[in-house]
Amino acid sequence: MTLTEKILARAAAKSRTQAGDNIWVKADILMTHDVCGPGTIGVFKREFGKNAKVWDRNKVVIMPDHYIFTADSKSNRNVDILRDFVNEQELPYFYDVIDDPKGHWAFDPGKGPLHRQYGSRYAGVCHTALPQKGHTRPGEVLFGTDSHTCMAGAFNEFATGIGNTDAGFVMGTGRLLLKVPETMHFRLEGQLRPGVMAKDIILHCIGDIGFDGATYRALQFDGPGVAGLSIDDRTTIANMAIEAGGKNGIFEFDAQTQAFVDHRCKSNGTKASYEPVERDRDEKFVYEGAVDLSRLEPTVACHPDPGQRGLARELSHIKLDRAYIGSCTGGKTSDFLEFARVLRNQRVVIDTFGVPATPEIVQDLQSARWGEKTVWQILLDAGVQMTENAGCAACLGGPVDTFGRLNAPLKCISATNRNFPGRMGHKESQVFLASPATVAASALTGRITDPREYLS
Ligand code: SF4
Repeated sequence: MTLTEKILARAAAKSRTQAGDNIWVKADILMTHDVCGPGTIGVFKREFGKNAKVWDRNKVVIMPDHYIFTADSKSNRNVDILRDFVNEQELPYFYDVIDDPKGHWAFDPGKGPLHRQYGSRYAGVCHTALPQKGHTRPGEVLFGTDSHTCMAGAFNEFATGIGNTDAGFVMGTGRLLLKVPETMHFRLEGQLRPGVMAKDIILHCIGDIGFDGATYRALQFDGPGVAGLSIDDRTTIANMAIEAGGKNGIFEFDAQTQAFVDHRCKSNGTKASYEPVERDRDEKFVYEGAVDLSRLEPTVACHPDPGQRGLARELSHIKLDRAYIGSCTGGKTSDFLEFARVLRNQRVVIDTFGVPATPEIVQDLQSARWGEKTVWQILLDAGVQMTENAGCAACLGGPVDTFGRLNAPLKCISATNRNFPGRMGHKESQVFLASPATVAASALTGRITDPREYLS
């Protein structure tokens, strides 16, 4: 069995399963957020009754993160709906925007978009916050009402996005009927060269198979090249499995996974036990791809979909209006450090927005010092508009007052993960997906630029 099949067989209490089987799978965690949470709660109440209780209060994680820092009253109200439900169900894992459990959330535009408006429990973008808060464990099944839930596959678990109806059902029963996906195999070899990042790996893979090339399939990443990839790198890759249509992305378990998960579960007091899955000899794959990491170059996915692969050095004719770094894919601490390395002591020439994925990342950047300055200050000095309001922000457009949103037909280079028309706002805008290093170099020139030009 493949890694995915092994986890699903275990979750279905079966000794074996294979691609194409329809099986009932037990959920270890159900995650939802402000956009889909109210709908999921509605389905749950409709189907299980007004007074129904969730199947396991310790397994439901609620993370408002999408449309938070906006004056849009309906978006603000969604956070209040989540809070009411959490109070009613006495759920321990709610990462509220405000500290008062009886309060109401309202973003104050008068304070501006840059300065922190959240309380002490707020966790930021769900996919980045789930591992930070100790909710991702090897061998488990994680369902989330968000397509990039597949990011947690970096931790050797089966993680996938589901709709509100399925999530309402999981909320009531802790189970879901799933078709076991076929697995595509990506063997990673060699090591990345300077200026090339994990984002380039996944953009390269999606370019090979197309934005629908993995529809309802698992993407398994393994091989000797994985050892040189950090946990952040692996999450970047697993996150974008869905950008090829994948059901999930998955990595092998190793010492790095163990160290990260053990530390996070312990420091957050979450469940500490887990059982990873290892590779079998009899894995059956529907696709075999080998990627020599040392041969990869800074890569870009051009408008209008994540499969439109090009090399940054061949796209310098494309002029840009804006640069954006943020999201679950590209807004992690390591992403900002690489971004800052390119921008240090220079100045951007186009509007450039920076949105850390979580408050913890804001803290990292405001405390990490390079010489006299914090990394945060280095970015400000380079002309980047940095917000402390960690969240999804303009990654998926959002209400018109969303920080960094494309409100006009602009061309934007972005460290995010999705670039279908209208994704970041205006339906005639164009988004070019790239690594944080490529976004930084491009912000310095105003055209798509290979970051290796800026590495000493
Ligand atoms: S940052 Fe973007 S991709 Fe990630 S959860 Fe938010 S909207 Fe989705």
